[in-house]
Amino acid sequence: MMIYEETKNRDYYVQLGKEMSEAETNHRQTMRKKRFDTIAVHGIYGAQAALQNQGSIIEPAYLSPAQHFENSNHMEVALAYEMPSWAYTRIANPTLHYLEETIAMLEGYGNPIETSAVVTSSGMSAVFMATNPFLAQDDSLGTPNIVVSAKCYGGSFMLFEQRYGLERSIDVRWVRDTMNLDEWAENIDENTRFVYGEMPSNPALAVFDIANVAKLAHAQQAPLIVDSTVASAALMRPLCHGADIVVHSVSKSMASSGFAIAGAVIARHNITSKIGSNEMRENFAIYVKLLPFRDHGPGLSPFNALMVLNDLRTLRQRMDHLSTSSLQVAEYLTAHPMIEAVNYPGLPNSPSHEMASHYMTLVDSEEQYGQSENRYGHLMSFNVSGGREAACQVFDNLQMIWRATDLGRIKSVATIPAISTHQQQGDSGRELAGVPVNQIRLSVGAEHPLDIIDDLEQALASL
Ligand SMILES: *Cc1c(COP(=O)(O)O)cnc(C)c1O
Repeated sequence: MMIYEETKNRDYYVQLGKEMSEAETNHRQTMRKKRFDTIAVHGIYGAQAALQNQGSIIEPAYLSPAQHFENSNHMEVALAYEMPSWAYTRIANPTLHYLEETIAMLEGYGNPIETSAVVTSSGMSAVFMATNPFLAQDDSLGTPNIVVSAKCYGGSFMLFEQRYGLERSIDVRWVRDTMNLDEWAENIDENTRFVYGEMPSNPALAVFDIANVAKLAHAQQAPLIVDSTVASAALMRPLCHGADIVVHSVSKSMASSGFAIAGAVIARHNITSKIGSNEMRENFAIYVKLLPFRDHGPGLSPFNALMVLNDLRTLRQRMDHLSTSSLQVAEYLTAHPMIEAVNYPGLPNSPSHEMASHYMTLVDSEEQYGQSENRYGHLMSFNVSGGREAACQVFDNLQMIWRATDLGRIKSVATIPAISTHQQQGDSGRELAGVPVNQIRLSVGAEHPLDIIDDLEQALASL
């Protein structure tokens, strides 16, 4: 017993930790050479990890809140973050780790950049964890401002406008015309802590030039943070175009079965920022995970992580299918006499078509289709002629399409943003975000597109 205790000293665990990290780094390098679908199916969970899990070929759900340690040395080294361990599920957990590694690899796919990820309890906690560290007080800097696309998700709008703007006196500068680079440039200055955009946006489907906005942000030492929930890594990977950080509501396209609410922050290594420690800039996602995330506590349930992993495996095929169906539905709506406007970047006459086509392509489509194929996702919005009443009437007459504030589902879902996701912003906020009262947002699911069109047809016929 004494011998055992003496050999399993601190150094033993530090050395063991090094070997564990090296083995995983090697495996990550092997996996990063695979194609997108293979990474989505296997992630970091390979034969070695399986043998440490009784051979389970599917990632196990570690529902345990805590990890047992061999002895005090093991515990001390683990909690000093000197060896891979998980300790306590609010801080880390093996099932969450499998998901984080998969998401980080998918988001950096096709590019040599290094990426890391932290998964969170919801998309909103991801938006908060990705932005809050940049607002830390620093007396050597002037009054902080943030530059944000006004066309963004209602919850993000409220976080920026109310929590940061009203409650913390942060100067929130809204960019209304997201395609106008001059408007971004006019707002970004030496006191800009971060620049934030959503692409394509929910529900307006607005787009912006990621690469050039990243350049403008970097010129003022600010990071560009992009919410690309609607596109997902299967259609667009902002980190590969110069963005520093990506946030996702994993609840949506990634977890399309609808079994979990979840979020993710994915960052490239060595981000641009005028604030924070070197440690924070070197690996922002891991910094967030080990420090602010630990202290704020927005951990994801390991069970939910497993649900997400299960859906992620087919992300590319699903986004391909949903995009093709969506274009068909959008074309149908465009031709309908009772529809005033359809926002869908896949429509050739959409003002965002050219920009979206530059950024949104189905990953690995060359091998499948013989050429690179644009895909524009499952989300669209349309304005019904006759105002709010008419929009409500069409909405109320839907027979199969769900009436719910949700998107990215395998089932078609519709909502009226002005009375749901964007209700709390008031008329001026909705005007800023470009959310008219007669707008219906539709997330196209995997039903047969002609059945989706039939449902819309009979609902529109009620007018
Ligand atoms: C839903 C959504 C969010 C918030 O995500 P939750 O998982 O609901 O917290 C953020 N951004 C976009 C674009 C969304 O659609």
